[in-house]
Amino acid sequence: MISTSRCGVDEVPRRLAILGATGSVGVNTLDVVARHPERFEVVALTANTQAERLLAQCRRFAPRYAAVAEPSAAHALEQQLRAEGLATRVLAGPEGLVQVATLPDVDTVMAAIVGAAGLPATLAAARAGRRVLLANKEALVMAGRLFRDALRSSGAQLLPIDSEHNAVLQCLPAGFDGDLESAGVRRILLTASGGPFLRTPLEGLAGVTPEQACAHPNWVMGRKISVDSATMMNKGLELIEACFLFNARPAQIEVVIHPQSVVHSMVEYVDGSVLAQLGNPDMRTPIAHALGFPHRIESGAQRLNFSAVGTLNFEAPDLARFPCLRLAYAALEMGESGPVTLSAANEVAVERFLRRELSFDRIPTVIEEVLTRTAAGVLGDLAHVLEVDREARALAREAPATHGAGRAVRLHG
Ligand code: NAD
Ligand code: MG
Repeated sequence: MISTSRCGVDEVPRRLAILGATGSVGVNTLDVVARHPERFEVVALTANTQAERLLAQCRRFAPRYAAVAEPSAAHALEQQLRAEGLATRVLAGPEGLVQVATLPDVDTVMAAIVGAAGLPATLAAARAGRRVLLANKEALVMAGRLFRDALRSSGAQLLPIDSEHNAVLQCLPAGFDGDLESAGVRRILLTASGGPFLRTPLEGLAGVTPEQACAHPNWVMGRKISVDSATMMNKGLELIEACFLFNARPAQIEVVIHPQSVVHSMVEYVDGSVLAQLGNPDMRTPIAHALGFPHRIESGAQRLNFSAVGTLNFEAPDLARFPCLRLAYAALEMGESGPVTLSAANEVAVERFLRRELSFDRIPTVIEEVLTRTAAGVLGDLAHVLEVDREARALAREAPATHGAGRAVRLHG
C-alpha cells in the first residue's frame, strides 16, 4: 500500500535502474530522463532479448551495467560493447535482473518488465529499500502482500506508473498514508478506454486478429497490454492493483468507460467532490510525475487542448462484452491465489492468441476454466507464488483451442 508521507525534498541526481528499458515504458522513461541530464543518472538498463536496441541505449546513456535475461543475447551485447570500446558491464539471466535492481549505487528502480518475469527483480528492489516506480502491474497483482510487507520493513517507496493509479495518487491528499476513510474518500473511479472493440458486434469478436487487437485507439503500448486493453483484462488487473496500492476494497472501486482517455482516473470524497487528473494520453506524464516526485518536471507530453477535445463521454462497462473484468472480481474473491492464477492464465492465453492458436473470444473462457480448476487459498513466500503461477500456466497451455472442448474441460475438471 502506498504511503507518500515519508517524502522529503529530493536529493539529485537520482540514480536509476530501468528494468525493461527496451519496451514501450522503458523507452518513454529514457525520453523523459534525457530531458533532465542534471536530475538523473542511468546506472543500469535491462532487456529480455533485444540486444541491438539495448546497445543503442548503452551508447546514448553509458550505464555502468546492462542485464539481458536471454544468455545468448547477453553474449552478443557483450561482444558489441567491447568492440566499440564501451565500458558497460553485462550481466546475464534472471539473476542479472535481480542484481541490477539491488545495486548499492541505484536508488530508484523503474519496473517496466511485462508480466510475471518482472516479479523477482521488482520485489527484490522493494525489499532492498529502493524507490520503485511500478509499471509492471502483474508483479503487484501476483504478490500484493509480499510487496506490502517489503515496503513496511525496508521503508521503500512505491510510486505507480500505470496512468490510472498515478492519476489516483495525484487526486489523493498529499501525505496519504493508506487510510481511505480518514482521507475522506468514498470511491476510486478507474477510467477505461474500452479498447478497439468497444462497439464491435459481439459475434464479430471471434474473428478478431492480433493486429486488430493491438491497435489501441489512444495509447501506443507493448503487445501484451494492448491485448489486455482489448479484452479489458487490463482493467481487471488494474482493479486488483488499486486494491493493493490504495488499501481499498473492491466495492470502493468503480470502473467507468471513458473512450477519449483524457480523464486518467478520479477520486470521490464524502462531501461529493470528485477530483480528476486529466492530460493527453502520453505515458511520459505519469513517468515524469513519478521520476520527479515530489517535484513536477517537464515530460515532453503535448499540452491538453480542451477545445480540440470537445466532448468527454462516460458509460458503464458491459460485463457480457468484457467478461475478463468479471473474472478479476471473481479472482479477488478467491483470496491470494486467485489473482496469481488469473494473471498467469491470462499471460498464457494472450501469448497463444498472439501466436494465432486461440481465438480472441477464447481468452476469457480459458482463464475461467483455469480459475475453476484451481484451489483458492492463502499464499506463503515468493516460491509459493511462483509455484501457483507455474500450475496455472500449465493448465492454460493445455486448454483446448476451441470453446466446445473447453466446456468439456470445465465439466470434467
Ligand atoms: P513491452 O512489451 O513494450 O516491453 C516489455 C519489456 O520487458 C521489454 O524491455 C522486454 O525486453 C522486457 N521483458 C519481456 N519479457 C522479459 C523476460 N522474460 N525477462 C526479462 N525482461 C523481459 O511492454 P510495455 O508496454 O512497456 O509494458 C511494460 C509493463 O508496463 C507491463 O506490465 C504493462 O502492463 C505496464 N504498463 C504499460 C503501459 C504502456 O503504455 N506501455 C502503461 C501502463 C502500464
Ligand atoms: Mg493503465
